[in-house]
Amino acid sequence: MRKQLFNVGAILQGLGITFKYMFVKRPTIEYPSIKKQHAPRFHGLHELRRYADGKERCIGCELCSSACPANAITVIGAENAPDARVSPGERHAASYEIDELRCIFCGLCEEACPTDAIVLTPRFEMADYRRGAFVYSKDRLLVPTDAGVGTPPDERPNGIPADLGRVAEVKSTMSVDRGYSATHRGEVLKTERKGLAG
Ligand code: SF4
Ligand code: SF4
Repeated sequence: MRKQLFNVGAILQGLGITFKYMFVKRPTIEYPSIKKQHAPRFHGLHELRRYADGKERCIGCELCSSACPANAITVIGAENAPDARVSPGERHAASYEIDELRCIFCGLCEEACPTDAIVLTPRFEMADYRRGAFVYSKDRLLVPTDAGVGTPPDERPNGIPADLGRVAEVKSTMSVDRGYSATHRGEVLKTERKGLAG
């Protein structure tokens, strides 16, 4: 009898806690429909910016790649054609790739860039099931021509940007084959450099 009373008491105690929290404000948020604000200087997914005239800011100098402590960036520069300039400088990035799985989001690439081309945005939704999908090539990093010039590093929005959609949309076009092979840097670089020289 005493044991049964104890069990009933325990059940009532449990229900009491349940009822108590029914009227308390919930600390959880309904992600992804509601997103929490994060720190203003939060470092998330990279973005390659443009100038106002649409030209790419990146001049293929590879300084970001040299500064990266995680060896996550691979840049292959090429000469600009005088009649079809990609960037205002002599050179542009023929290929630009960041392996976001290697990246530690330190922001040194952003600091090293002489043209403010590469910036870290507050975007953080990068989850995927394939390793290859984390190797972001230029087509996914570069701001589309119809989406402005990109966010300057010193004017990052304080939290989730309203334009989150642009990079996320292009993301699904990633080729897994290219992503995987790009992680074997030596071989890919040799092949691509040969291709460019030819
Ligand atoms: S944020 Fe740091 S680790 Fe990531 S690519 Fe830039 S320099 Fe490399
Ligand atoms: S992003 Fe900046 S540092 Fe990196 S190659 Fe382009 S211009 Fe140079």
